[in-house]
Amino acid sequence: HDAIACPSHVAVYSQSEDALYQRRFTLLNDFSAALENTGQLRLVFQPRVDIATGECCGAEALLRWNHPTLGVVGPAEFIPIVERSGLAQAATAWVLDAALRRQRTWRDEGLFIDVSVNVSAANLMEPDFAACVAAGLARHGLPASCLELEITESAIMEQPQKAHAALAAIAALGVGLAIDDFGTGYSSLAYLQKMPADVVKIDQSFIREIDSDVRQQALVSVMITLSQDLGHRVVAEGVETMAALDFLRKAGCDEAQGYLFARPLEAASFQAWCAAARAPAAAAAVVAAAPG
Ligand code: C2E
Ligand code: MG
Ligand code: MG
Ligand code: MG
Repeated sequence: HDAIACPSHVAVYSQSEDALYQRRFTLLNDFSAALENTGQLRLVFQPRVDIATGECCGAEALLRWNHPTLGVVGPAEFIPIVERSGLAQAATAWVLDAALRRQRTWRDEGLFIDVSVNVSAANLMEPDFAACVAAGLARHGLPASCLELEITESAIMEQPQKAHAALAAIAALGVGLAIDDFGTGYSSLAYLQKMPADVVKIDQSFIREIDSDVRQQALVSVMITLSQDLGHRVVAEGVETMAALDFLRKAGCDEAQGYLFARPLEAASFQAWCAAARAPAAAAAVVAAAPG
């Protein structure tokens, strides 16, 4: 804001707006340093659960930033700033490498879990994005099938044609694709049939009121059926209650993700969660198989 040229304008801004502006500026300024291996960035992992079997069928990698003075800052705040400042390419490269490295470690320790990584609209405009993804998989000795990329419906809709070309190149590698935050991005439902995606993730805003709102239930049912009829697997995001899970099971939804199962977990905790989640199922199987 130009305080000298327009002093009356400055008076309109409250101190809190000023603080917010300062905070954004700090985040923007400090992100490249965070990328330089300072230990400020880390990934947490949230399980995806198969509704029919109760098994963990994947983990979403979510970025966390422990800023030296501001403390832990969430991606909903800093990712949009990073994207606007042209650092989306570097950020996604960091996340992808960290997620694949983690998955390599898990596999070496006998834990085979597919990992999904969120990517930005700008990544789809990088001419060599698919090649970078392939190089990352090769670097860590991982098959393409163990990785899924999540891209929001609104990111695809920014430049649908270019996005489609990029998504097709990624799909050709054998890497999975998920449309994230589905239902919030102003694409028409008819557009869904053109999306080259394996998975549709229904946005948590639709799931949140599902217990109480019958119209929301109708909407989610249709989204599930339509997505499946068009060949997509459906994941419900933000599942927090048993009632929501019961509804989703009856509606035939494939997978659920949310605080009901687990919050995003540190890598070690995720591994422990998987071991604990498997134990009751294994015990039940043993009981079922036991004679008498
Ligand atoms: P998203 O990809 O839709 O991720 C789901 C978000 O919902 C996560 O927030 C997760 O912690 C939260 N969540 C999961 N289950 C529940 C629940 O039951 N209730 C509620 N209230 N929330 C739940 P998070 O980690 O803060 O991430 C926010 C968004 O930031 C993500 O939304 C994604 O769009 C973006 N993001 C996260 N990590 C990355 C990244 O590495 N790269 C990029 N480009 N974007 C990222
Ligand atoms: Mg996501
Ligand atoms: Mg797969
Ligand atoms: Mg989402």
